[in-house]
Amino acid sequence: MADTADSDFDYESLLDRARANIPEGISNRARWTLPTPEIMIEGQNTILRNFQDVVSHMERDENHVFQYIQNELGTSGSRDGPRARFKGRIPPKRIRRAIGSYVTAFIKCHQCGAPDTHFQKQDRTTLLKCQACGATRPVKLKL
Ligand SMILES: [Zn+2]
Repeated sequence: MADTADSDFDYESLLDRARANIPEGISNRARWTLPTPEIMIEGQNTILRNFQDVVSHMERDENHVFQYIQNELGTSGSRDGPRARFKGRIPPKRIRRAIGSYVTAFIKCHQCGAPDTHFQKQDRTTLLKCQACGATRPVKLKL
């Protein structure tokens, strides 16, 4: 009879096996996270206190990220050292969502979900190329 106590075929070992198949550097990047956005209201403005810190983890152009967040929030803002300031009292949830949608649009591989990607120019198109699985997809950088 088949042995049903297949204890070494559990979820954890499946994960280990999956990890064993990808190079070290990439599996480290798979645990990539962004710093928690520190958001506060100051008068009629909303401050993202650690904007620069968050962006430095993204390895993307600061101005591109900043412009994108302004568009998503439908407001204007200004940079203030490591901080970003947006006009209006914006619920923190909306700022977190704007950052999240930037990640989805310009960082995450849509094939495997890895954040280890970079832009690649091909003719007049910009592609987002994944280092982990090699997938590419076109991205529109113009905001
Ligand atoms: Zn990928």
